[in-house]
Amino acid sequence: MARYTGSVCRLCRREGEKLFLKGDRCYTGKCGVVRRAYAPGQHGQGRKKLSQHGVQLREKQKTKRYYGVLEGQFRKYFGMAVKKQGITGENLLQILESRLDNVIYRVGLASSRAEARQLVNHGHFTINGKKVNIPSYLVKAGEVISVREKSRGSSRIKDLMDGRGRAVPKWLDMDRNTMTARVVALASREDIDLPIQEHLIVELYSK
Ligand code: SF4
Repeated sequence: MARYTGSVCRLCRREGEKLFLKGDRCYTGKCGVVRRAYAPGQHGQGRKKLSQHGVQLREKQKTKRYYGVLEGQFRKYFGMAVKKQGITGENLLQILESRLDNVIYRVGLASSRAEARQLVNHGHFTINGKKVNIPSYLVKAGEVISVREKSRGSSRIKDLMDGRGRAVPKWLDMDRNTMTARVVALASREDIDLPIQEHLIVELYSK
């Protein structure tokens, strides 16, 4: 399936909540969910009661959209989560959080996961000193992510470093002076502040 290229605000309106896909704009009154608090499309304002399957499906779609992951990759992550020890839903969220593009977003080196994905694609980061340009790379505990030496002068990176910055979760340690982040440990469920009911996704895929 091809990557969605339409308006990302429509995705938030479809889910009926903010998915924070547009960076700073999401925190202003221009947010699509604030301005038009109903689903997009001709029948968006009609009342709709979802079946149990519908509820599970929406939760899965919302989670995919938060992280910008397509169905095939999401399924693959679910398979990995099943094989891991522990609670499948929590494993799934931990894997999604471990994506390099998410880590770049979490430490404030990008204003959205989409921007983080682009910065990673453009080769602005190293992991343990080696250039990595794969947004889906899964980080491990102890790894050190840095802005590449030659990217440090870029005005885009400088603007991001000078920005307000969000709170960095405790599983990551960010040093803005050296433009370096360290993965203290992989994220646990308490570290993930997204309103996701992961058990609904597990139920959907376990049918
Ligand atoms: Fe979603 Fe951000 Fe658009 Fe608001 S501005 S609808 S949170 S992408």
